Amino acid sequence: PFRAIWITRDEDKKQSVEVREVALDDLMEGDTVVEVEATTVNYKDGLAITGASPVVRRFPMVPGIDCAGTVVACESDRFQPGDRVILNGFGVGETHTGAFARYARLKSDWLIALPEALSPLQAMAVGTAGYTAMLCVMALENHGITPERGPVVVTGANGGVGTVAIALLARLGYEVVASTGRTNEADFLKGLGAAEIIHRDELSGPARPLAKERFAGGVDAAGSHTLANILSMTQYGGAVAACGLAQGMDLPGSVAPFILRGVSLLGVDSVNAPLALRRQAWARIVRDLDIKKLDALSTTIGFDGILDTARSILAGEVRGRVVVDMNR
Ligand code: NAP
Repeated sequence: PFRAIWITRDEDKKQSVEVREVALDDLMEGDTVVEVEATTVNYKDGLAITGASPVVRRFPMVPGIDCAGTVVACESDRFQPGDRVILNGFGVGETHTGAFARYARLKSDWLIALPEALSPLQAMAVGTAGYTAMLCVMALENHGITPERGPVVVTGANGGVGTVAIALLARLGYEVVASTGRTNEADFLKGLGAAEIIHRDELSGPARPLAKERFAGGVDAAGSHTLANILSMTQYGGAVAACGLAQGMDLPGSVAPFILRGVSLLGVDSVNAPLALRRQAWARIVRDLDIKKLDALSTTIGFDGILDTARSILAGEVRGRVVVDMNR
């Protein structure tokens, strides 16, 4: 038996969470057993554990959408025992028992090899949030948004996606404008590479159809009015990569930026991204993410800290990324 975070739901559909001892047979089917060495707490894990939004679709569930660890057994020929792997998304921690346990039983199709340059803890400091930030940067690049085009705004700047996006964009030569509710963290954000800090209140109210052209591009983790505002401020031909909903799921804006300025809205999903794109994103992370900055933006906790962190990430109190060291 080993420890796992275990979410159940009663007849009134009320969710409860506890730490309990489980066995491999309590986990959902999969051809590969991974010993989890490191995991992380993402925003979505906060939603799953608190039940704040219906992220968990099957019960009982072990939450945890990300892990890095060692293959213990694999029925397919894709991996051998001893191989180090990472898992991001694919519904793990939502519809398939996940990473907040010593062992995870997963499908080998979902796993990619841990890049040699990264330790399991470093890979989880990146985690889904950081890999999504990389997907957003790649989406902007594919749209031709180069550093010469002008500044790029990053919303939710102190969050997981935001901090990694700032570090990546700055390293690639972009002028980064960081939007945050925590302007007291300005020095931290500048240390990651932000050139300018703006208060998120500037972007959080109802948007005008068009505003002064300010940004060549954006990485948005907030959605709602924030996304509508940055679209209205995007320069002619620019693009915004949208990946999050920290402010809200709605998009209360107008089509004016699209039809009058040729602005593009680039949707980014990490959960079901194809393996080839995942491998490309992780290779880019190895190349373009400054490991010193990764260390600066992440904090490490043990398994016992997961439940508290799940609550504080939804309260917007977590700065950067939280890594869970399962050997602590
Ligand atoms: P996080 O660490 O909690 O970061 C979210 C940040 O958003 C907060 O730190 C805060 O930054 C800002 N924020 C919070 N409430 C806000 C509000 N009302 N208005 C504007 N900004 C607000 O979460 P994360 O793990 O980085 O994830 C960020 C978002 O991306 C989440 O919505 C998550 O579900 C989504 N996401 C999507 C994908 C995908 O595949 N599409 C993948 C990963 C994450 P400041 O304190 O700096 O303002």
